Amino acid sequence: MAIKTNEISALIKEQIKHYSQKIESNDVGTVISVGDGIATVYGLDKAMLGELLLFPNDVYGMVMNLNEDSVGTALLGDDRLIKEGDFVKRTGNVVEVPVGDALLGRVVNPLGQAIDGLGEIKINKTRPIERIAPGVMTRKSVDTPLMTGIKAIDAMIPIGRGQRELIIGDRQTGKTAIAIDTIINQKGKDCLCVYVAIGQKTSTVVRVVERLKEHGAMEYTTVVSSTAAEMDTLKYIAPYAGVTMAEEWMEQGKDVLIVYDDLSKHAVAYRTLSLLLKRAPGREAYPGDVFYLHSRLLERACRLDEAHGGGSITALPIIETQAGDISAYIPTNVISITDGQIFLVTDLFNAGQRPAVDSGLSVSRVGSSAQNKCMKQVSKSLKIELANYRELQAFTQFGSDLDESTKKTLAHGEALMEVLKQGQYSPMQLDRQIIELFAAKQGILDDLPIDQIHPFLESLYLNVQKNNSSIIKEINDKKELSKDSLDILEKVVADFKNAYVL
Ligand code: ATP
Ligand code: MG
Repeated sequence: MAIKTNEISALIKEQIKHYSQKIESNDVGTVISVGDGIATVYGLDKAMLGELLLFPNDVYGMVMNLNEDSVGTALLGDDRLIKEGDFVKRTGNVVEVPVGDALLGRVVNPLGQAIDGLGEIKINKTRPIERIAPGVMTRKSVDTPLMTGIKAIDAMIPIGRGQRELIIGDRQTGKTAIAIDTIINQKGKDCLCVYVAIGQKTSTVVRVVERLKEHGAMEYTTVVSSTAAEMDTLKYIAPYAGVTMAEEWMEQGKDVLIVYDDLSKHAVAYRTLSLLLKRAPGREAYPGDVFYLHSRLLERACRLDEAHGGGSITALPIIETQAGDISAYIPTNVISITDGQIFLVTDLFNAGQRPAVDSGLSVSRVGSSAQNKCMKQVSKSLKIELANYRELQAFTQFGSDLDESTKKTLAHGEALMEVLKQGQYSPMQLDRQIIELFAAKQGILDDLPIDQIHPFLESLYLNVQKNNSSIIKEINDKKELSKDSLDILEKVVADFKNAYVL
């Protein structure tokens, strides 16, 4: 039987006619069940993952599950406004947030809407919150330090711009404090900041914003807040919204610091959503893709090369542990994604050693290549000296008769620990850190009474600033100390010690 071409074309035409009809009917679906912030919708065969759907009463939902005959959506609004049988429309868009300088100084929710009562934010650009991280060819290795202003961190666990450094510790060990001090320290250092609060108490977020304002840090900071009382969907998208805002600045060639406080609560919000969406639970009831949840987020922090503007995003994710257990599921995941961790310990915190950084378990895998030369000069042996001290300290708890050299190591270690103590909201500038660490390294603090160390360091710094301003200038401009300057500084410090009256 011969096939006639006009018959075939008629058939095809017929098919196409129905095809377009089918698309149209696929753009509207019906709610088959709703509750706990989740709606299941029937009839949206063409919905895309991550697409926004419009429900009645202007409630939006985000497509999370594509099942055989329905789609599972996480609602971004009140689920009580929706009932079974309601019509749902596809929008063809994914979730987007506003970006740009208008966000600086503002507190927004994860959708980019102002919640600080300062009026609407003038938006002229939005970006989708999910994006593939920049590829390796557009990246550059980390080579500029990001100073936290905290001696213990800048000296032993240096952070570079474009690095991802985890802050991990039990509850109430000063995790947020480190992140906030780092933001405050970026004043005048050409670095914009984004603070993402995930599942925090509203009062905590308010306090953080107030502190930032007090220290003039809100001018260059955006706070993205999803508090504990909010829907899990909002908590889930909050960090992606934050990094999207940061990316806009990074692509303009700027340096950005982003804090995720904290990702444990983010993982919990995602677990809740996943279980409600009836996804299979895995280890600790987290869904199988919980690693991808954080890896795709943290991969977006990077340092771009000059051809791509040279901007960077430095990420400080925070993870809360239970009883110091860093080998639980979420902590190990995030440890393996980041370039190092700052480990905070309750025992040190309670003993008054604040910030409670455990110098043995904390590392920074890429930051040392970005560390200032002068900081390297004064802090090279710090970690080892502290390790020696800790070892001896544990050992000598049982004995009383100590030989001279043991006593010396212990005294030196105690002095070092005291030097590394630092109050909240008082980030220290590079020159002062260098002078203090230099003095500590020389061992001249070892025979001072512990409570005299900080007053001594303060007057030492003022003295150097007054009488040897060239050294201060050299530190700030060249970020390196010449052999001559080191010799001069050694003498200045020794003379000052000899003349110092307690
Ligand atoms: P949470 O688990 O509740 O989020 P956290 O680990 O973020 O707690 P913070 O809220 O930062 O801890 O700090 C806990 C308490 O310790 C706060 O009252 C804070 O003021 C105090 N604190 C933190 N760092 C220091 C410091 N360097 N010196 C003195 N006090 C500090
Ligand atoms: Mg906190």
